[in-house]
Amino acid sequence: MSHKPDAPNGLTRRELGRLLGVSAGLACLAPLTGCNSLWERQSVIPVDGWHKGVCRFCGTGCGVMIGVTNNKVVDVKGDDEAHNRGRLCIKGLATRDILYSEDRALYPMIRKDGELQRASWDEAMTLIAQRFRESIETHGPASVAFYGSGQLYTQESYTANKLFKAGIGTNNVESNARMCMASATTGYTATFGKDEPPGCYEDMDYADCFFITGSNTLECHPILWERVRDRKRSHPGTKIIVVDPRKTFTARHADLHLPIHPGTDVSLYNAMIYVFLQHNFIDRDMVENYLTFKDGEESRTFEEFKRHIAKYTPEAAAKTCGITPRDIREAAFLFATSKATMSLWTMGLNQQVQATHSNRLVSAMHLLTGHFGRPGATPFSISGQPNACGGVRDVGTLSHALPNGRLIANPKHREEMEDLWKVPRGRISPKPGYHTVQLFEALGRGDVKCCLVMCTNPGQTLPNVTAYRQGMEKAFLVVVDAFYPTETTKFADVVLPAALWVEKEGVTGNGDRRYHLYPKLVSPPGEVKSDLAILVELADRLGHGDLISARTPKDVWDEWRKISSHSAYNFEGITYERLQKERGLQWPCPTESHPGTKRRYLPGQDPMATGSGRFDFYGKHDRRATIWLDRQEEPVDPYADEFPLILNTGRILEHWHTMTITGSAPTLKGIQPDYLEIHPYDAYQAEVKDGDPVIVKSRRGEVELRARITEIVRPGMVFATMHSCRHLINQVTHDVYDPFSKEPAFKRCVVAVRRKSA
Ligand code: SF4
Repeated sequence: MSHKPDAPNGLTRRELGRLLGVSAGLACLAPLTGCNSLWERQSVIPVDGWHKGVCRFCGTGCGVMIGVTNNKVVDVKGDDEAHNRGRLCIKGLATRDILYSEDRALYPMIRKDGELQRASWDEAMTLIAQRFRESIETHGPASVAFYGSGQLYTQESYTANKLFKAGIGTNNVESNARMCMASATTGYTATFGKDEPPGCYEDMDYADCFFITGSNTLECHPILWERVRDRKRSHPGTKIIVVDPRKTFTARHADLHLPIHPGTDVSLYNAMIYVFLQHNFIDRDMVENYLTFKDGEESRTFEEFKRHIAKYTPEAAAKTCGITPRDIREAAFLFATSKATMSLWTMGLNQQVQATHSNRLVSAMHLLTGHFGRPGATPFSISGQPNACGGVRDVGTLSHALPNGRLIANPKHREEMEDLWKVPRGRISPKPGYHTVQLFEALGRGDVKCCLVMCTNPGQTLPNVTAYRQGMEKAFLVVVDAFYPTETTKFADVVLPAALWVEKEGVTGNGDRRYHLYPKLVSPPGEVKSDLAILVELADRLGHGDLISARTPKDVWDEWRKISSHSAYNFEGITYERLQKERGLQWPCPTESHPGTKRRYLPGQDPMATGSGRFDFYGKHDRRATIWLDRQEEPVDPYADEFPLILNTGRILEHWHTMTITGSAPTLKGIQPDYLEIHPYDAYQAEVKDGDPVIVKSRRGEVELRARITEIVRPGMVFATMHSCRHLINQVTHDVYDPFSKEPAFKRCVVAVRRKSA
């Protein structure tokens, strides 16, 4: 065995350099450090005007100031007045360049003789309308589908949802948010009756304990991480607990790191609750007056819940999780005894077979200990895409959902939306559509014959992707994207060029229920059109022009905010005029004079909470939150002699999703994340040296990566990023999914690793 020597703290040299680079990058941009002058010196290109906007990348939704000269974005800096306090991460800084990459799609293309060839808009739209109409008339509305994204603006998602569900009459409407946020939705809904976080980013300024589980916050949400670090700097007694199988950059800053085996979260959380009960860290008033207990469909008493938890001793859970009972007890003590505990989580929790269980157990830990509803005390799921919350979860751009938390399966909800959308009763099909994995299976079977894909890249991102690429090839596939080529345009029959970021106007909803306006600041290149304009034209050509009567971003927003007023998501008061002036507004916000809501379910603070007690969980009929009796299950993809390692997938600081945007940014494209982290012991066993080409093989397929030998991963575990389009890790991942959320379990499958030459 031989590999590069590690730096003294266990980091490789490159990792250490990256870590220092991250910190320096953030510090120089932080007005709190007094370094803003550094930024101003860097701004060497003359700027005609600075405009308020929002970063294009993650769900943090950082405010940016965008410098425009001669119809071109020439500079970007953090917005001092926004929640990110002037900070941007390296991806946020790269937004200056994202509009000008060489691989922009500039004109429509139609596949002829096996090749995508330039076409006119009329030719492309005529072909799309003809193929969709033929399919609907011959095979019924369920033979067509829409597959969207948490990156579309709300107006675009809303229009697509309405066109397909209330116009065409199919619920085959899905979004890539199914693959990142769906388990947070089912977790919150099961507990509180309503989706979306009860707390806000500001809670980070008050927490005395952070329980970060399934989130490499430092790399994936760096600006939120800096806020956590601000709290730790100003209040050094603040504790940070990190639950992650890898010793990530985030974990290295933890006071306590619990490197559990992937997929054993339920055991850990139940064991922490065991300690809460054992040491009477329970909020009795909460239990007696604001909670109910359920085991599946059955109600349970608190005493029955305690008997259920009795099996999850720290000693038993420690064996399952691969950590020590002492660490479980310490985590529970820190969580329960702090003045205010805030939990943060994202894909590490959501992309698991038991993800809904894990989500609701984290909320349960907060409710049982009373760490809820006070500043700093909240269970908070972090969002991956800029509009997964606003444009998918709130709009209901999912096959089982309708706007503002309504469900297709509920006849009353369908009738409400039929009335609000002014379509005849019975227009919305009572049959839920295909969820994401099912949808691409249906393409393969030929049950779905036409699919409109907007602003996402399923040819790379689906789990077990090889199995689903055949379906994309078989169907009539229309891909609307800002970039060409991608792994999805390889299978497209038509490609339509879409506007990106500030080439169009729209609203997004970030991770703390905050709606922002993205202004249109520059003209799109070539023949590029906005996704909204494309959807409106499709509606006209399919004969649903009357239904899609709102045709500008402002008109669609006004229709949507009025519809929200009939729900607990009420944001009728968030007008365009307010969005233009303010740095985002948080719903509920029912009137134009309402300031927005930081914390939900609190009478006196949340306008929807009309009760008179401490809390009012108005999403539930009995106005009590629900604690679920959840059990650890056996792994779905068991070890076998030929697959002795667990593969875990994730993200890195410099790239985002499938690199269609960051892979083109001059500052980021040199970083190629096509490596496999492997522990020195496993590398020795496989006779692999650092940098060797290796083949990672699972029961579904194999992929070649470069070995990176590191103790970031535990023995028995390997890690790869989801970013690289040169080496698709999803040829290996498992397409099993959480039975409640239908979110695929990207975070765990068993694999074997061998040197390529062997
Ligand atoms: S943290 Fe997210 S929203 Fe903020 S600058 Fe970075 S990528 Fe953009």
